[in-house]
Amino acid sequence: MTTAQPSTHTDGGSRPVIIEADSVTKTFSTPDGRALPVLEGVSFHLAEGEIVALLGKSGSGKSTLLRCAAGLISPSSGSVAYRGTPLNAANPGVAMVFQSFALLPWLTVQQNVELSLRARGVGREERRERALKAIDLIGLDGFEGAYPKELSGGMRQRVGFARALVVEPDALLMDEPFSALDVLTSENLRSELVGLWEGHEAPVKSILIVTHNIEEAVLLADRILVLSSNPGRILAELTVGLPRPRDRRTPAFETLVDNVYGLLTGREERPPEPAVAGEKAARPAATPTTVPLPQASVGGLAGLLEILLARGGEDGLAEISDELNFEIDDLLPLVDAAVMLGLATVSDARLALTDEGREFTAADILTSKQRFARLAATRAPLVRAITQALAATDDGTLRESFFLDLLQRGFSAEEARRQLDVAIDWGRYGELFDYDADDREFVREPGGAAQP
Ligand code: ADP
Ligand code: MG
Repeated sequence: MTTAQPSTHTDGGSRPVIIEADSVTKTFSTPDGRALPVLEGVSFHLAEGEIVALLGKSGSGKSTLLRCAAGLISPSSGSVAYRGTPLNAANPGVAMVFQSFALLPWLTVQQNVELSLRARGVGREERRERALKAIDLIGLDGFEGAYPKELSGGMRQRVGFARALVVEPDALLMDEPFSALDVLTSENLRSELVGLWEGHEAPVKSILIVTHNIEEAVLLADRILVLSSNPGRILAELTVGLPRPRDRRTPAFETLVDNVYGLLTGREERPPEPAVAGEKAARPAATPTTVPLPQASVGGLAGLLEILLARGGEDGLAEISDELNFEIDDLLPLVDAAVMLGLATVSDARLALTDEGREFTAADILTSKQRFARLAATRAPLVRAITQALAATDDGTLRESFFLDLLQRGFSAEEARRQLDVAIDWGRYGELFDYDADDREFVREPGGAAQP
């Protein structure tokens, strides 16, 4: 439903611009009142006739950016315009699809779909007709009277799509709409969406999709905006010139996927890693909040390195993730951890073991633990901070709240907890310290593997 005035504002290819974000910055507050910068200076546009993907790691601010584009939250600075008019309320030209479906359980499929029209003041008869048409279009024929709990995940998300499409929005905004579905169901729904889009049957003029899945972005989008993390900025914009439907197995497709892998695994703007040999400590700039720990367990990290060793010590990231059936969200934290600890390097989307990484992987368990302890205590800022703080105590114990408070200066409460959990895993493996879950405190390991 196009409610705003048509605008002559166009993109470079003279297509009317539907949404334009200009230097959007969003800062949240942490529980102790400090600023948490989530988006910084993000500018992009969405024009008629295009599908744009916002791609980034988990926590990079994708959902926040999408909510700004929908006018559900306002940027801390910068602005979002809909057809040339700056937003100061919900964007009238968009409809959204969420990962969690967000259906009302006490309403039938048809009632759920009609709900978005009711909110827009559409009369009863027209509501019915349009809802039935949308339900038909998205393959829900026969399920009009069913309740959400009677439907599979895939069918529920079809209701999510019907509810968005029924209003015929200028822009369809989707937040990881396929990531709660199993592989086959999501593949199926994605290709149906592409079919509707290509056949001009979908009553939308543009699509903005948020995803952490590189292949999904390359399958669907005309342009991919790659977001960096902490804070989210636009790292790169890629044009995907491939005809649809797209085949994952073509060299052009694989090259694009490789390029994006390379961008997302780049070290972004972090300081260069210090050399391992003789290194006492990482650079002063690397603190637990400026260089967060990747969400990687030591077990997962060791597994990745073993696979890499079995593959000759080096392989393409796309090949590794294919082989393991991993999504980027699963693989990237392990890669980031390997790079942080100096066990592997990434270049041109290829992961290669360092000498340190080879020795770590080939060594017996005690030697591996000692090597890991040394690397973690020098190169992982939070592990280093905990180890040093414990060394400075009289009784060798420290409450976890001490570190949680520190972490909450840079992270949300949930992220602070996640950071601490990773540090506990790493510190325990290296026998640098132990964690007492009953007393919620860290305990020094005086005779651990760190001091061979
Ligand atoms: P993504 O969708 O890329 O995973 P989000 O936009 O959901 O990322 O979140 C980015 C960061 O902003 C996260 O660290 C998250 O904890 C934080 N965040 C999101 N919403 C809020 C909020 N309302 N208040 C405080 N922090 C938030
Ligand atoms: Mg999100």
